[in-house]
Amino acid sequence: MNESSFFNNDYEQSRSSFRQLSRRIRTYYPEAVLDYWYTGPAADDNTTDIIEADALEEFKTLIVLSSGEHGIEGFAGNAVLEMFVKTFLPHLDKSTTGLTLVHGLNPWGMRHNRRVTESNIDLNRNYLDHFSNNSPVTHSIFENHLPLFRPATPVNDINTHNNELKSELRHIFSYEDLQMLKNTPPGQYKYSDSLYYGGKHLDEPAEKWTDYFISRAAGYEKVIHIDLHTGGGPENELTLIFMNGETRSAEELQSALSWKNVMKNTSADMLGDSVDYLQRIAQKKFTDKNIVSSLFEFGTIKESFEDCLFCTKTMLNENYLHFKGGSEEAAEKVSNDFIRLFNPASRSWKESVVTQAEQALKSLLTNEGVL
Ligand SMILES: [Zn+2]
Repeated sequence: MNESSFFNNDYEQSRSSFRQLSRRIRTYYPEAVLDYWYTGPAADDNTTDIIEADALEEFKTLIVLSSGEHGIEGFAGNAVLEMFVKTFLPHLDKSTTGLTLVHGLNPWGMRHNRRVTESNIDLNRNYLDHFSNNSPVTHSIFENHLPLFRPATPVNDINTHNNELKSELRHIFSYEDLQMLKNTPPGQYKYSDSLYYGGKHLDEPAEKWTDYFISRAAGYEKVIHIDLHTGGGPENELTLIFMNGETRSAEELQSALSWKNVMKNTSADMLGDSVDYLQRIAQKKFTDKNIVSSLFEFGTIKESFEDCLFCTKTMLNENYLHFKGGSEEAAEKVSNDFIRLFNPASRSWKESVVTQAEQALKSLLTNEGVL
C-alpha cells in the first residue's frame, strides 16, 4: 500500500474523496449517511462533511474521528480517515459500534491553506464557556512583545526581513519560550490580527460542532473521540494528548497503550481546547457515560532550537502576509514554509502519519475493548 496516496492537497479534492468513503462504509453499515453543514454563506461552498453510521443492533460505543479544526492540518486528517475506513472497518463489531467521521471542521481554513478561521480565530483556543462573564486571560508573552506579534507593514524583501526577524527572536526568546510556542501555544483574547487568537465568543464552526457532538454522544453508552492535528511534537512521530477529564496519568496511559509520546494537557495557560471542552460538557451532561478523548498530533519538524525558531518565524510571517501582504517572492516563500510546518510534501512524513495513526488507533481501540 502506498500510504501517501491517501493525501490530497486541495480542499475540494480532499472533500470529494471523503464523500466517496460513504459508499464503502455502506457496504458495512447500509444505513450510513453523509451529512454536511456550511460555514459562512452557502455560495462560498465551505462545508464540514460528516459520515454517520449507527451500530446495527445495540448502541454501545461511538467512535468519533474529527479532522481539519486547523484548516491546513485537515489534509493529514483526511488521510487518517481514509486509512481508518480501509483498515479498521472490516474488524469492528458493527452490531454494537457506531461511527462519526468528520472532514473539515474549519473548511475555510482548509480551502485557503490557513490554520485559522476567516475571522483569524484559532478554533482550538475558542472553546470556552465563560466569554460573557470575564474575559479569558491573554498570556503575558503576547503583551510583552506586542510589536512582534502584530502585523505592521508589508513584507517585501523576504531575505532581509527573515534575517532581522530571526535575530530578534533569538534575542528575546529562550528555548523554552520557543518550545512552548511550537507545542503548547497559549491563546490570547485581545488581538484579532495576531496569532493564537481565541475570539470573543464561540465561533460559528465551534458552535455547530459542539451541538452536533453532544447530540450524537447522547445516543451511545460510550464515546471514543479522536481529533487529528499536525505540527506539534517530535518530527515524524505521533504524540497522543489527553485532557483533564481523563483520570489515568500520562505514565499509566503510556504503559497501557505502549506508546512513547503521551501527554496530559493540564496547562492552565492553554485555554479553549476543543477536545477538553467537548469531553467536559459530555461528562457533565451524561454522568453515566464513558467519554474517552484524545488529540493526535503528528510532528512535522525537529525539536531543536533552530526548528522551534523556524516554527515561530513561519507562524508570524504567515500572519503578517495575510494582513499586510508583501512581494510575490515573500508570499511564495512563506507559503512553502507554512506547508512544511503543517502538511509537508515528504513521502516519509506522509507514511509516518498513516502508519503511526494505524498503530496508535489499534492500541487505543484495543485498550478500550472495541477491537
Ligand atoms: Zn492543530
